[in-house]
Amino acid sequence: MWNKKWFGFWKEDGDHYSKCPSVNEWVDCVKTDTRVIDYLDGGSFVSASPVVVQCHISNEIIDSSKVILTDGYWMWPKDLSHYVSKHRVQVPHEFYLLMKLKGFTCPKVDDDFDIMNLEYPE
Ligand SMILES: [Zn+2]
Repeated sequence: MWNKKWFGFWKEDGDHYSKCPSVNEWVDCVKTDTRVIDYLDGGSFVSASPVVVQCHISNEIIDSSKVILTDGYWMWPKDLSHYVSKHRVQVPHEFYLLMKLKGFTCPKVDDDFDIMNLEYPE
């Protein structure tokens, strides 16, 4: 049971994320639902920092900046879709249920949306 409203931050991301789960704990053999990838890619922009984002499983370079996205409820890094599509990382059931409720179309947050209301990784 995942009781956070953020996902995709891993302890492999560094000391600051030492309390986060390991990405390996979320890899499953279940085939990835492509609608989940579309939803994740459709998130609204929260923030970006200029760091090279490297995959913790395959070591490939995913991106040249760490971009954080949201649907107004959950928060996740843009590179999460890489893990979901390439390495069969599963999103928490609660997150999946919200996606389903939204018809797998990620809601857009408007300019007035207060990103400080989002739950951030510890
Ligand atoms: Zn990878």
